[in-house]
Amino acid sequence: MTPAIEVRDLVKRYRKGTTNAVDGVTFDVEPGQFFALLGPNGAGKTTTIAILTTTLTPTSGTVRISGHDVVREASMVRNQVGIIFQNPSLDMNLTGEENVRIHAILYHLYPYRPLYRLMPGAYRHQLRELADVVGLGADVFKPVKRLSGGMQRKLEIIRGLMHHPRVLFLDEPTSGLDTVSRRNLWQYIGELRRRHDITICLTTHQLNEAEEADRVCILDHGHVVALGTPRDVKGQLVHDRLYLDADDRAALRRRLLEMKVSFNEEGAFVVDLDGLTAHQVIRAIDEPLTMLRTESPTLEDAYLRILAAGDA
Ligand code: ADP
Repeated sequence: MTPAIEVRDLVKRYRKGTTNAVDGVTFDVEPGQFFALLGPNGAGKTTTIAILTTTLTPTSGTVRISGHDVVREASMVRNQVGIIFQNPSLDMNLTGEENVRIHAILYHLYPYRPLYRLMPGAYRHQLRELADVVGLGADVFKPVKRLSGGMQRKLEIIRGLMHHPRVLFLDEPTSGLDTVSRRNLWQYIGELRRRHDITICLTTHQLNEAEEADRVCILDHGHVVALGTPRDVKGQLVHDRLYLDADDRAALRRRLLEMKVSFNEEGAFVVDLDGLTAHQVIRAIDEPLTMLRTESPTLEDAYLRILAAGDA
């Protein structure tokens, strides 16, 4: 199967740069996958996405979107991708629908008509359908400046989807949105993937949003420092932890030492479950416990660990 995104040895050096902003990056994204590109500021995420969406040319290496080369077949690639960027690029003086119409015409999707009601039925149908799915409804006809931040983001999504892209790039899509709008947006994006088998490429600082990704790629200083499922990335670096405490702390400490498990005392005893199950540890303890809970690492724990290792 042709990957939705194929990146090979990608290098980008800006003209005035002394180092490579992107320095030998390689990854694949399968069709229909939800892929998250993570990394601290300056890691090279924006540069990578700009190359993948044809707004920047690579210094070397190859990138293909649905099999099309981003340099030699740029217009084919543009037809395959939808882009929803962090900074809204909507025309505030027009209505939501007018913004969508201009985009549809630029993409040669429909002939231009000066009024919505004169536009082809297929356009009107598609617009209403997308407006309903994102929950914008008839508000799509309001001037953009009267829409809230969340509504403007929804409008961008409608616009980004009019040409039925196969790959959707989302750059910090939920920044500036409240919790409810954020959750709605993710529900909608999930719906899109299920219904239309769209590949999603996300960049975000909200690591919890990447927990749901099929695969994550962590960039640092232009390099890939971790690539895999969130579970793999976490599993390589951080283990589940078991929190325990007992009235007889000395006895519990002795027991843990006998078991040769790795633990520390942060108020309670925190056992690093390196390959052990919580059950195996608890079974070996006779002392009555006053506290018992397990904690699984988050992607954020792994992320911080990876980046700290890089700086060391
Ligand atoms: P991120 O999106 O992960 O924050 P960027 O891709 O924006 O990272 O930046 C990667 C590196 O490239 C940074 O060191 C940044 O300073 C540099 N950079 C970004 N844009 C330019 C530019 N137009 N000219 C020169 N250097 C740039």
